[in-house]
Amino acid sequence: MLGELRLEGVASGLPCEVYWQPGPRSYTGGPQAEIHTLGCGPLLEAAVRTLCRAGARLAEPGEFTLRAFLSGRIDLTQAEAVLGVVDAVDGQQLAAALEQLAGGLAQPLQELRNRLFDLLVHLEAGLDFPEEDLPFLSRLELGRQLQEASEQLQNLAEQLQTRRMSDEGVTVVLVGRPNVGKSSLFNALLRRTQAIVSPCPGTTRDYLVGQLDAAGLRCRLVDTAGLDWVQVVSASGGIGEGEQGQMSVGAVSQQMSVRQVREADVLVWCVDGSQPMEPEEWAELVARGRAPRLVVLTKGDLPVRIDVEQLADQCGVGPIVTSSRTGQGLEELRSRLRETIEGLAATGGHAVWATAIRSAESIRLAEQALRRAITLGAETCPEELIAAEIRLALEEIGKVSGAVYTEDLLEQIFSRFCIGK
Ligand code: GDP
Repeated sequence: MLGELRLEGVASGLPCEVYWQPGPRSYTGGPQAEIHTLGCGPLLEAAVRTLCRAGARLAEPGEFTLRAFLSGRIDLTQAEAVLGVVDAVDGQQLAAALEQLAGGLAQPLQELRNRLFDLLVHLEAGLDFPEEDLPFLSRLELGRQLQEASEQLQNLAEQLQTRRMSDEGVTVVLVGRPNVGKSSLFNALLRRTQAIVSPCPGTTRDYLVGQLDAAGLRCRLVDTAGLDWVQVVSASGGIGEGEQGQMSVGAVSQQMSVRQVREADVLVWCVDGSQPMEPEEWAELVARGRAPRLVVLTKGDLPVRIDVEQLADQCGVGPIVTSSRTGQGLEELRSRLRETIEGLAATGGHAVWATAIRSAESIRLAEQALRRAITLGAETCPEELIAAEIRLALEEIGKVSGAVYTEDLLEQIFSRFCIGK
């Protein structure tokens, strides 16, 4: 519709086009109008003022997407993807969010839900109307179907992991002075001997990458060559610039380390607890980069020769004492990493992470419930008990798509949107 907007305080009418969508096929599922007019700030403000005087109000942050979700137009994973599209800072994040928006996870989950619902209906019909001659579902067939559903859930859980790895590449980087024990920690965390460990400083010449399990969350772990941290955070152009051919191996590896640190999502800053800290190391500790940082005191099996309290004071949080020899502190480090990564996902607008983390737990619980159902089925337990486990699995699966949701969850997701989305 072509027309004219008559605005308070503006003498002449403003040309505009109005696109009217009566619903239910609009974005929000309800009636919706879009006004297109000149993109001039003061005129747009006058238009909003005039519309508000006539009874309109400004949308709350995320309200459009919330309405779309509540009217069933999109599921929760897609709502999170909208946020991802808005917040994407690079092409990779945008591509991941768009793929999620297209419903990568929603459809297989919906199929699984339907399947489990059918099983449940079958079981419950048998319970409620035992005298009716209903088609009989043998325990063997029930077990087989539950087994298939449980495998599908496992596949989805794996897909989510891969998504986190490939699309997000959550990168945890080990940094610290040469010889503090980074490579040993890298090996201990990955439970294998990949990095070369040597008592000579500067053994790790470039960087190594492995897949780390941070208390159930998978991420990339990078072991860098020891580097001069102050230079990393203060140099705007980076250290070791110039023709690679003219640089020493050490300088090249320093440059690679600098890049790894800059691209890190989380830094694990390693300090050798068995050696007094050099004044420069204290200075490095105060310098801060962009990424959140965990401080680790290595070689915890040896007598501690640094002032841990002073270290905690400087860092604002107590260091995690680890030993790659005895395994001390490694589990704590994994769970602190998990917390830090989850914190990033919650605040950083990484939509796919957020969905992956939120969904992974539900999928895990659903899968556990199905496995219990399989065991109960095999033990000829009463069907009520099997039905209860299936119901539990359905509830967890429903949480992923938002078919089952709590006010808290909606608040958590939609409060991160900006106004007008
Ligand atoms: P990087 O240069 O920081 O990667 O350090 P490395 O991992 O190569 O370790 C340097 C030296 O410290 C090696 O001799 C290791 O055996 C030793 N080291 C590393 N971690 C530990 C530990 O937890 N306990 C003890 N006692 N020695 C360690």
